[in-house]
Amino acid sequence: MSQPVQDLELVSVTKRYGKTVAVDAINHHFRPSSYTCLLGPSGCGKSSTLRMIAGHESVSEGAINLAGRDISHLPPAKRGTAMMFQSYALFPHLSVIDNVAFSLKMKGVDTRERRAKAAEMLELVDLTAMAERLPDQLSGGQQQRVALARALITRPQVLLLDEPLSALDPFLRIRMRGELRKLQRELGISFVHVTHGQDEALALADEVVVMNNAVIEQAGPARDVFNAPRTRFVAQFMGGHNVVALPEGHFAIRTDAVGVGAPGNGVEANVTGIEYQGTHVSVLARIAGDQELTALVPENEFYSNPHTPGDRVGLIWDAKNLHKLTA
Ligand code: ADP
Ligand code: MG
Repeated sequence: MSQPVQDLELVSVTKRYGKTVAVDAINHHFRPSSYTCLLGPSGCGKSSTLRMIAGHESVSEGAINLAGRDISHLPPAKRGTAMMFQSYALFPHLSVIDNVAFSLKMKGVDTRERRAKAAEMLELVDLTAMAERLPDQLSGGQQQRVALARALITRPQVLLLDEPLSALDPFLRIRMRGELRKLQRELGISFVHVTHGQDEALALADEVVVMNNAVIEQAGPARDVFNAPRTRFVAQFMGGHNVVALPEGHFAIRTDAVGVGAPGNGVEANVTGIEYQGTHVSVLARIAGDQELTALVPENEFYSNPHTPGDRVGLIWDAKNLHKLTA
């Protein structure tokens, strides 16, 4: 089911609810055929942004362009987008195949044709064997795939997903995210996926768009955003970084770029906590100015020279790994 490749663009898009500015004049060009994650803390405006793209929420100001035309005033079904909902909202009294075919029924497509199309979608999400079951006869992961098939049957150019994995247990969440990524590659359409989990965004996204307080703080390829956070907020929210205030300004440094040595080396510090994390051990240590830093030390390295809280140590890093923050 290949679709023409289409660009989605937000032009100074604003959403207001009364006096609340939920989304403040954001601009973004979503690369065609890519997997984008909108990432940010609760309340930063992710769902509002997604719902405006979908047409489930009106745009207060600005334009949403898909394939060069402004879709911001079109009804949801006419936009070329489809939304997969956080709560799967499957119809409990309809079989899996009829759930998937539902939007075609609304469009007046006849029974044979819509069942044939729905069967195709069920094959895509590997649920052919479950076609005649009712939703409550499926596992959470299977219900998720029905919801996906139901969104994809409209053949959208852009699939919108709002925290699609949040209801799943951790094991299933990781499996399902692999399936989403694979499906996006197979279909070649754009996925825009809202999440507040930085690990989920890094695992899935070609491009990560980090939102905070109704604006986009930083956008770019996942590795760029992780390795070169521009602001303190992005460094802290993406995790894996220390933010340090040095006489020259504020810097971010990856926790795995900080080493723990004997006192007298590097920067004097006191160990305040140790956390075993499996492949690594997280060493928390306090330096002058009451700043607490984390050094992520490979497990073997740590246990060949272990530390305990209260130890005096030297924190060592290479100045080239310090990354200057702009705010
Ligand atoms: P996120 O998805 O990032 O958690 P939302 O887009 O849901 O954020 O919300 C952004 C802001 O807009 C929040 O302050 C939220 O309380 C507010 N908001 C969201 N929906 C509505 C609504 N229907 N009416 C009023 N305020 C809303
Ligand atoms: Mg939300």
